[in-house]
Amino acid sequence: MIPLDIRTMMVMTALLALMMAGQLLLASIQQGNPRGLRLWALAQASIGLAFGLALPEPRQPLASWLIVGGSALIVLGLALQWQGLRSFYARPYMWWPVLLSLGLALLGNLWFAILAPNVLYRAIFNSLLMGTWSLLCAHAALRAPAPPSIAARLTGAAFLGLALLFFVRLLYLLTAAPPDYGLYARISLNPIMQFLLSVLQMILVSSFMLMVHTRITNDLNHLASSDGLTGARNRRSLEERFARWQTLELRKGGILSLLLIDIDHFKHVNDTYGHPAGDAVLCAIARLGQTMLRKHDTFARYGGEEFCVLLPATNETEAASLAERFRLAVAACVHPNENPALPLTISIGVACSNEVGDEFSQLLQAADDALYHAKRNGRNRVVAFSSLP
Ligand code: GH3
Ligand code: MG
Ligand code: MG
Repeated sequence: MIPLDIRTMMVMTALLALMMAGQLLLASIQQGNPRGLRLWALAQASIGLAFGLALPEPRQPLASWLIVGGSALIVLGLALQWQGLRSFYARPYMWWPVLLSLGLALLGNLWFAILAPNVLYRAIFNSLLMGTWSLLCAHAALRAPAPPSIAARLTGAAFLGLALLFFVRLLYLLTAAPPDYGLYARISLNPIMQFLLSVLQMILVSSFMLMVHTRITNDLNHLASSDGLTGARNRRSLEERFARWQTLELRKGGILSLLLIDIDHFKHVNDTYGHPAGDAVLCAIARLGQTMLRKHDTFARYGGEEFCVLLPATNETEAASLAERFRLAVAACVHPNENPALPLTISIGVACSNEVGDEFSQLLQAADDALYHAKRNGRNRVVAFSSLP
């Protein structure tokens, strides 16, 4: 087996960490400073510097002081990664644990490196502190507000691996208590540990970058598929959902109903109560629409004050009764200026694929015809396409 030289590996770890710090910083600048990325850049710089500081031979002057600084910087790096993960999930900054453990790391290492030198105790102390921080980081990565993404799980797993590494070393030091222990002592644990540490750091940085990337992609997808004012799906997303229904369900003989909803006399609402009041009405209707639907239904803002609903596996009668419930709910709950005395109504056209065809344009045209009749017959009503003369 090729012997692993610890000094070479430490130089490599330091360089890699500094390079990754630069990359994280660059990514943060380019991507509009996503939450947590700068803290991770700082953490990598801290870790890179730490390995650089730990390079001098223990006998060289100032080596003990550099070791104190290096150990504290590794603890700081871990704590900054923890803070970065909290920031990624929009949790408030919490600096006291970071400062506390930095102080602890400085004091402990000062004690065991300079005031009462004992390499073994110092290694035990640092393993305990760094292992604990790795566990805290794993916890922060996996404690996502929603189910954690694959990238977040990977980050959590890598931190658990790191914690395992520190605790295995701790166990070894406690049980074997090697009398001549030191970083450059000829025991195979040291180079293996160094090797795994730098591999895990690389995995950690790439998986955190992946977390950021997943977040940005999800945000962009959400932006591209939702309406800016109401937050409902937009027309593009509606057409995509319809196309998916066509490919997945149509072949199996599935049916789908479409509702076209138009607010009555909406121009009057804008003219009388102002545009912002009109906007609030649109938002309220969208909220109501989204809460009244089943999981596989799609509610979208189709245009100005028109909404469109896709109801898979729903015939025209069922769709019309759902539309009627929605009409009543809007009349009861949505008011311009939130004033219950002011009435607001909607008209709805209903069409079903087994009556008018499976193409989006056919369904939309039929629902539009029905809506036109609803408007012509006095508004505030639901009209099904099959009931048209
Ligand atoms: P009808 O009962 O015949 O549907 O009457 P209407 O006044 O609703 O008629 P129309 O469809 O012609 O008017 C739509 C109005 O919706 C016109 C436009 O100013 C308004 N509108 C469209 N988009 C928005 C928006 O985003 N916010 C607000 N506040 N108003 C909008
Ligand atoms: Mg209209
Ligand atoms: Mg209208």
